[in-house]
Amino acid sequence: MSNCLFCRIVRKEIPAAIVYEDERVLVFNDINPQAPLHALVIPKRHIASLNELSGSDDGIVGEMVRRAAAIAREKGYADRGFRTVFNTNADAGQTVFHIHLHLLAGRPLSWPPG
Ligand code: 5GP
Ligand code: ZN
Repeated sequence: MSNCLFCRIVRKEIPAAIVYEDERVLVFNDINPQAPLHALVIPKRHIASLNELSGSDDGIVGEMVRRAAAIAREKGYADRGFRTVFNTNADAGQTVFHIHLHLLAGRPLSWPPG
């Protein structure tokens, strides 16, 4: 996906504050943070939304969730708590159509969400 914003971040065409990177997953700080920790965990491979997932994606989604938990732990939020969110399509407010797991921590997060 040549013009996808997050694919361009993967290719380092657009700068981002990278928190973690391996062959399959990239984690970087959200440009408009909503909490003291607000990172986005993405697959390097383009997947537009959770609606496009197939069984062959189970591995990468598991890696993303485990990576989010590992970063929360590394940054000292495992016990206090943290939130992980995938937004999908308009009603959930998805604005970038390359799946990303929001990782938020460092303040009390109200529930239910808006
Ligand atoms: P969504 O609303 O799709 O769930 O989340 C998209 C997120 O991407 C938003 O929290 C937004 O602040 C973040 N974002 C949008 N453009 C950029 C960018 O160029 N760089 C970074 N680091 N984050 C971005
Ligand atoms: Zn993409």
